[in-house]
Amino acid sequence: MNRRQTPERSDERLLSSEIFPGERAPREHLALGSWHEAARELPVYRRCDVLVVGGGPSGTAAAVAAARAGAQVVLLERYNHLGGLSTGGLVLWIDRMTDWEGRHVIRGFAEQILDRLPAEAIAGPARDEWGSRDAARAAHWSQRTAAYHGVVTWSPTIDPERLKLASQDLVLEQKVHLVYHCWAAMPIVEGGSVRGVVFESKAGRQALFARVVVDATGDGDLFARAGAACDTDIERDDIHHCMNTAWLFGGVDMERWLEFKAGQPTQFAEFMSRGRDQLRYFERPFVSWRNDIALFMGPRQSGYSALDPDDQTEVEIRSHKLMAQHLDYYRTHAPGFDQAHLLQSAPQLGVRHSRRLVGVKKLVRAQWPAGGALEDEIGVTPSVSPKFPNISIPYGALVPEALNGLLACGRHISCDPNSHGFLREIPQCWITGQAAGTAAALAVQRGVAPRAIDIAELQSALLAQGVYLRPAARRAEAAAAQDRTT
Ligand SMILES: Cc1cc2nc3c(=O)[nH]c(=O)nc-3n(C[C@H](O)[C@H](O)[C@H](O)COP(=O)(O)OP(=O)(O)OC[C@H]3O[C@@H](n4cnc5c(N)ncnc54)[C@H](O)[C@@H]3O)c2cc1C
Repeated sequence: MNRRQTPERSDERLLSSEIFPGERAPREHLALGSWHEAARELPVYRRCDVLVVGGGPSGTAAAVAAARAGAQVVLLERYNHLGGLSTGGLVLWIDRMTDWEGRHVIRGFAEQILDRLPAEAIAGPARDEWGSRDAARAAHWSQRTAAYHGVVTWSPTIDPERLKLASQDLVLEQKVHLVYHCWAAMPIVEGGSVRGVVFESKAGRQALFARVVVDATGDGDLFARAGAACDTDIERDDIHHCMNTAWLFGGVDMERWLEFKAGQPTQFAEFMSRGRDQLRYFERPFVSWRNDIALFMGPRQSGYSALDPDDQTEVEIRSHKLMAQHLDYYRTHAPGFDQAHLLQSAPQLGVRHSRRLVGVKKLVRAQWPAGGALEDEIGVTPSVSPKFPNISIPYGALVPEALNGLLACGRHISCDPNSHGFLREIPQCWITGQAAGTAAALAVQRGVAPRAIDIAELQSALLAQGVYLRPAARRAEAAAAQDRTT
């Protein structure tokens, strides 16, 4: 197997991690023909202003924002919890919300939901450390997912069960009609506009109508099936196209492990090398919100499609087997892991990428150095390295090129593969979810298509909700400066 290491400390991506070509088993292609499904009458489950499909980070933020803006909202989720990959995928390391100067730029919903977590459910540097370049503090936090390029960042680890609860509380407080165990199957499209969805549940197949639908499925299930254009190209050197099932080990002593990793580099290198030889697909642990729980977010497997159930199954099976093999190896060889036990494998498959919307606008690599705020800025993301300024996220990246009645948010918004590497992160999904929900509610209130809303009105609503945007004056100033340099 040709294991690949992404280039060390690239300015194009934040992490350097191993990528394992998945050795996808050959598929048997049977020509079994097709079956014509007969048309039938469906009961209508509900009619609402805004329907959000998918209760991951982006969908939760969208539902809460739309309801806060006065819309009647339904949130439809196929599993039994909110948080998507950030909870069910055990992605409990929330990426950076501060920029390289320590400014807190991902706020709004991100801040509100994290503030709800009890102190024992969140671990990370105190506010007065954000942006610190003190070598000792950066070295300490770089072992604990909260310092990069020598800068301490706000990127905490959280208890996924607490995040599920906080998400559910927020949604219910806003009187969102939440429905679990429902799988959206097909968008209802009339005259080039999405009017709702057909979904499946134990109650059978039902229709749900909405004035605006927010696709927060992560895989663009709705906009793709409604015929909107999608991008599927990937950045090979970035882990953004890999899949795996994450898992947790309990009964560990992570402080002891970190001392070994940082204090005995030769032995650590030998440990890693022997692990790769024995297991082939090998992964190291990350800290969690507790010292006695270790997080494994790999091995990252490439070459699979998140839209193919046989591929998904192959990744699940291998990941589950690897979890048990890792336990044996770590118990025997890793300091701090002698009492380790299997705590949990993620209920949701770890899909980083499948489809991306082709939107009215697309956030692309060429935009990174510019630094200016776009006219339709709906949020600001920290860049991947101190070489670049903060990056403006445009509203146009949520709006399909041609399809009406639908907005996208989360990891499938319109961007190039390189920018997808950070736009898919949980805090950025909160940003785009909050913007999509607010915009959907505004479109309903004003009786216009989502593409036709007043951007200034959207921005002032987002500012009122605590979202960090560059003020209009500074935006105009930055745009003028950008014009002078181009
Ligand atoms: C292994 C791994 C490691 C990662 N590491 C990090 C990290 O360290 N830090 C970080 O910030 N981010 C990380 N990410 C990225 C981040 O977790 C995701 O990109 C983010 O959760 C995406 O949010 P979302 O709302 O767009 O989609 P998702 O989290 O995928 O949520 C989508 C939701 O929609 C539901 N859904 C999907 N289809 C349907 C349907 N048809 N009908 C009904 N419901 C549906 C799903 O059940 C799910 O709840 C990682 C991702 C993976 C896979």
